Amino acid sequence: MAKRSLSSLGAEDLSGKRVLVRVDFNVPLDDEGSITDDTRIRAAIPTIEYLVNKGSRVVLCAHFGRPKGQVNEAMRLTPVAKRLSELLGKLVVKTESCYGDDPEKKVNEMNNGDVVLLENVRFVEGEEKNNSEFAKDLASFTDLYVNDAFGAAHRAHASTEGVTKFLKPCVAGFLMEKELKYLQGAVDEPKRPLAAIVGGSKVSSKIGVLESLIDKCDKILIGGGMIFTFYKARGLSVGKSLVEEDKLELANELEQKAKSKGVQLLLPSDVVLADDFSPNASAQVKTIDSITDGWMGLDIGPNSIKEFQNALSDCQTVIWNGPMGVFEFDKFAAGTNAIASTLAELSESGCCTIIGGGDSVAAVEKAGLASKMSHISTGGGASLELLEGKILPGVAALDDV
Ligand code: ADP
Ligand code: MG
Repeated sequence: MAKRSLSSLGAEDLSGKRVLVRVDFNVPLDDEGSITDDTRIRAAIPTIEYLVNKGSRVVLCAHFGRPKGQVNEAMRLTPVAKRLSELLGKLVVKTESCYGDDPEKKVNEMNNGDVVLLENVRFVEGEEKNNSEFAKDLASFTDLYVNDAFGAAHRAHASTEGVTKFLKPCVAGFLMEKELKYLQGAVDEPKRPLAAIVGGSKVSSKIGVLESLIDKCDKILIGGGMIFTFYKARGLSVGKSLVEEDKLELANELEQKAKSKGVQLLLPSDVVLADDFSPNASAQVKTIDSITDGWMGLDIGPNSIKEFQNALSDCQTVIWNGPMGVFEFDKFAAGTNAIASTLAELSESGCCTIIGGGDSVAAVEKAGLASKMSHISTGGGASLELLEGKILPGVAALDDV
């Protein structure tokens, strides 16, 4: 069901209104507490600026880290407020807490177009418990609700779900809208052929997405650590490679399911083996029926790269979730980088390319190709759940069109 967008609200609805905006500002920090990647903050700017320009009083609400319902000095949103001020070119006032007298006072002092950032919402126990009293608190000093936190939409928390019962209207921000347009659009009404590239370390974390994508895709390309579970299930030797013994049957079932549905399921034909799980390990390329004892597969091989590129060449939509190898080690990053370049080229010729999954996004960014893709999701877990066909509570709770 399509959700009502912030674009349906104009100055007449927004001017002077206290708008509670749930954003995803869960950015990585270095040891000194400096933000190392502000993508998520920048991604929320269009929504914030729209509201500022319409004269709203913008009350931002975000979580940071896992403080588990308690105040944690290291998880305050102070560096985020500072970065946001710089990006907006205007002062962003941060509250000391996200409920009680302090936010109420600061919000009541706001002028039209001002921006306040509430302190880490997960300092409050009621947030993750979706406590309705806490949700009511958030609604007590705001008038209407915008959810732009796609990365938190798979959680039914007070600030993503509970609060929608106390504010009207509840609409999707521009980032949320874009994420849904691409991710939902790709699985519901893709331009075909539709391919999914699924990788990462484990089959177990990608079962849901594989099962759901087999129903929707024309082709599925599998890479990463999970391929060895498929090989072992076929009776091949996999050396010391990552295998999930309890998922062998499942791997067989997935292959059968793909076959019966006429979906092309592609596994690599060769792999890059390492004698150790280390960036300096010795490496050798082997076909999958000749994996050396005592060695482990850490990347897809050069032939597989060509076969994957061939399979992708006629696709109109490609969804990528999970790296092809241990891309964190340069020696084993070739497969992941080749797929990233291939998708960048495909995007240029009109294919819709969508990258979901935290590590896949990191790999594309590391390769310097993020700006070439049609869509890079800001929500790792949320994008996976959406591709699995699950309903995201933070999305479901918004007003329908
Ligand atoms: P995403 O975050 O994109 O969904 P995952 O979290 O599922 O991806 O998996 C990413 C991890 O998988 C990376 O840290 C990578 O090193 C690891 N990985 C990829 N290939 C292998 C392999 N052959 N053996 C072990 N780990 C692997
Ligand atoms: Mg990951």
